[in-house]
Amino acid sequence: MSKNILLLPGDGIGSEIVDEAVKVLDALNDKMNLGVSYEKGLMGGCSIDAHGLPLTDETIAKAKASDGILLGAVGGPKWDTLDRAIRPEKGLLKIRAELDLFSNLRPAILYPQLADASSLKKELVEGLDILIVRELTGGIYFGEPRGVRVLDNGERQGYNTLVYSESEIERIGRNAFEIAQKRGKRLCSVEKANVLEVSGLWREVMESIAPDYPDVELSHMYVDNAAMQLVRAPKQFDVIVTGNLFGDILSDCAAMLTGSIGMLPSASLNADGLGMYEPVHGSAPDIAGQGIANPLATILSLEMLLRYSLGMSEAADAIAKAVGDVLDQGLRTADIDSAGMTKVSTSEMGDAVVKALLS
Ligand code: NAD
Repeated sequence: MSKNILLLPGDGIGSEIVDEAVKVLDALNDKMNLGVSYEKGLMGGCSIDAHGLPLTDETIAKAKASDGILLGAVGGPKWDTLDRAIRPEKGLLKIRAELDLFSNLRPAILYPQLADASSLKKELVEGLDILIVRELTGGIYFGEPRGVRVLDNGERQGYNTLVYSESEIERIGRNAFEIAQKRGKRLCSVEKANVLEVSGLWREVMESIAPDYPDVELSHMYVDNAAMQLVRAPKQFDVIVTGNLFGDILSDCAAMLTGSIGMLPSASLNADGLGMYEPVHGSAPDIAGQGIANPLATILSLEMLLRYSLGMSEAADAIAKAVGDVLDQGLRTADIDSAGMTKVSTSEMGDAVVKALLS
């Protein structure tokens, strides 16, 4: 049965990097007869420019009807002064909520060819393969009440609410246990139970479901310690499960261990397996239009989409191998420390991946 992908290139470097992923998909369609079609939609600043809203009902409907969504990135200085309610990032939060994409998988894998580009010493990161499972539709980013109020003394006070219900914790917890079962069978749950009541509940729920996964070793860590351990001895981790805010911060930290934020894909999945796949980086307005962005995180996001939402593991393996091949050839975009390597543009990198796929 043919499958259909919705492409949401977004803003900044978004269209440059998604174009390269499309080249790869076209090549795979030809080579492996995948039968994957695609169409484009608008989300973020480009949608605000066209429709006055970061995400329209039409795009939501297209996303729901698709078998998977490939996103570039949204946002940029052009829209930063708009009312918060219609900024590009609201489109992102809305599509996550509309599709109930509660589970965000953020791998931090260090390609052996890039060990020297890591911010840590080679011996600390060689062979690094961590997966951060971040809860994506709850916690402080969505909690109510929220806002800025004026106190009796006339001073303004900003406030947000960090809430997690038992069912939300159990859902992401079970998801993380199942993923750990398919990997190294070690799950570290990260929270701040020494200070926050919501984290105390998080820990209780994780403990209560652990007996259903006897093959997985569960540990707990406070988030401040987890941040420290990630830069001290990151290879101790296999799968980390955590809430929305802590996961946002820790996964960016883990990203840097791998040499470049331009290498890392991510997946956001709902309970039915529908997913939105995107690089972990943003729209990089500082380099947009220059043709120097690294497209590999987006190409690897396509790899995850084929693997997790379309069940096309052979095609996904072929992409992973092709990316390894171009790194072996010494090709690097400008974001990766490239002494002695061949510096290539965004499109040259995409072309090289296609060539490796077809060879
Ligand atoms: P960013 O990730 O866009 O950029 C941080 C730095 O990394 C920049 O120097 C950038 O040039 C570089 N970089 C990022 N991706 C790269 C790539 N593929 N190749 C080479 N270099 C790359 O983060 P930021 O500057 O904090 O945010 C810029 C905009 O992106 C903001 O509007 C922000 O809200 C938005 N943003 C969007 C998403 C998303 O769409 N999921 C995520 C994060 C930030």
